Amino acid sequence: MSKIHVFNTLLGKKEEFIPRQGNAVKMYACGPTVYDLSHLGHARMAIVWDVVQRYLRFAGYDVTYVRNITDVDDKIIKRARELGITPEKLSRQYTYKFWHDMQELNVESPDFEPRATEFIAQMIAFTQALIDAGHAYQSEGDVYFDVASFKEYGKLGKQNLEQLLVGARDQAVAQESLAHLKKSPVDFALWKSADVSELGWPSPWGYGRPGWHLECSAMVKRILGETIDIHAGGEDLVFPHHENEIAQSEALHGQPMARYWLHNSFVQTNSEKMAKSLGNFKTIQDLLQTFSPDTIRLFILQSHYRNPIDFTIESLQGTSTGIQRLLRAASFAISADEAEAEIPSAAAQAAAETFKQEFAEAMNNDFNTAIAISQLYQLADGITQTSSLSDKHYLANTLLHYAKVLGLTMKDTRKDINNEVGSKLIDLILTLRSEARARKDYASADLIRKTLTEIGVNVMDSPQGASWERV
Ligand SMILES: [Zn+2]
Repeated sequence: MSKIHVFNTLLGKKEEFIPRQGNAVKMYACGPTVYDLSHLGHARMAIVWDVVQRYLRFAGYDVTYVRNITDVDDKIIKRARELGITPEKLSRQYTYKFWHDMQELNVESPDFEPRATEFIAQMIAFTQALIDAGHAYQSEGDVYFDVASFKEYGKLGKQNLEQLLVGARDQAVAQESLAHLKKSPVDFALWKSADVSELGWPSPWGYGRPGWHLECSAMVKRILGETIDIHAGGEDLVFPHHENEIAQSEALHGQPMARYWLHNSFVQTNSEKMAKSLGNFKTIQDLLQTFSPDTIRLFILQSHYRNPIDFTIESLQGTSTGIQRLLRAASFAISADEAEAEIPSAAAQAAAETFKQEFAEAMNNDFNTAIAISQLYQLADGITQTSSLSDKHYLANTLLHYAKVLGLTMKDTRKDINNEVGSKLIDLILTLRSEARARKDYASADLIRKTLTEIGVNVMDSPQGASWERV
C-alpha cells in the first residue's frame, strides 16, 4: 500500500497517514444543520470528504465513514416558528432535500448518518460524566464546560486561553444575558435550558436541549469510539466547534479524540466567504438546473481542498468544456468482455501505467485532486491523439475507471436536452410546419405532424395557429 500524506490542522503540517489499527480507518465529518437549502459551500464539504473516503477505499483501506445530521439547533427552532410548523417537521423536510442534493451530486451514503435527536440519552450521560469529572458545572438549568479545567484548550486553533479571553469579550457583550451563569466568558454550553413548550428533553438539570458541540462528541463516541483516525469538516469549524469537541472528548477520555484533523476551505463569491448571511449563495438545486452533477463535482475538485474557490458562473461554465473533453475521450470505452479480446500496444500500456502512478502520487499527496484531474485531461488528450482504435479503447477504460474514483459519474450528458430547450425546439418545428403549409408543401407539413405524433407530441391546429402538448 502506497503512503498517503495528509495536512493535519492539529500539527499545522503534512504527515504520513497511519491508521491506528491495521488498515481500518474510522472517519467522521461534521454534516449539515438542516434548516435551509444547501449551497455550493455545503456541496464542497460533502464532495471533498466523499472523495477522501472513496480514495481511501480505493487505496485498500477498510473505511467506516460517519457524517451526522444536526436536527436540533436554535436556527431550526427559529425558522420553524417563522413558518408555523414543528422543528421536527422542518428538519425532516430539509433532511430530505439534503439527501436529494447528495444523490444528485453522486455523493455516496456514509456508513452511518446519525441524527442528533436520536442520541440525546448519550449526550446527557456525556454531560453528567463531565460534571462528575470536574470539567463541567451546572448553572441554573444550564450546564457549561469549564474551559480552564482543560489545559490543552486552544491547541487546534493555535490560540491560548489569554488570546481567547480577549476574543471572548465581544462574544460576552453579545451574550450578556448568559454572563452571570458562566465562570468564564470562554466557557460553552453543553446543555441549555428551554421552555417546556419548545423542542427539548427532560434531563437531570431540567428540561432543555444539548449544545451543538456536544452532539458530535457524543455521536463519535457512540458510533466510532473514543479515538478515531480522521475528523473532518469545513475550516470555519476549527474554532469553536472542533476545539470544543476536543475539549469535551479528551477531558473525559484522557486520550486523543482524532489522530488527524482535516479541514476544507471555503467557496467564495467575489472573494467573500459564501454564506447565507451574505445573501449571495446559489443553491445546489439552482445550479443543477443548468449544470450537470459532474460539472459541479469537477469544478469543486479542480481546486485542492485546502485552497479557497472563487465562484462565478463563468468559471463554472469553463468547467463544462472540461467535462466534455473527458466525456468525448471516455466514449471510446468498451465492455470488459470486449476489452479481453483486444491487445493494446506496449506504448499504450506504458502510458496507462505512468498515468496510474501520477494519479496515485497526486492523491497520496494530501488528496491533490487538482493534479489528479490534470492527469485525467492528459490521458484524455492521449486518447484523442492515438490513431489505434484498440489503444483508444484501452486508455478510455482506464480513464473511466479513475474518473469514477473521484466520484464522477461520467454519464454522457452531452446530448441531453432539458425541458426548456425541448419546448423551444418543438415550437421551432411547428413554425417550420406552418411555413411549409403556407407554401402548400403539405407533404413536409404532414411528415412533421406524423413524426411528432410518433414521439408522443400531439399537434392541434386552430384558426389561431398550431399548438402542441405531450400525451
Ligand atoms: Zn461536529
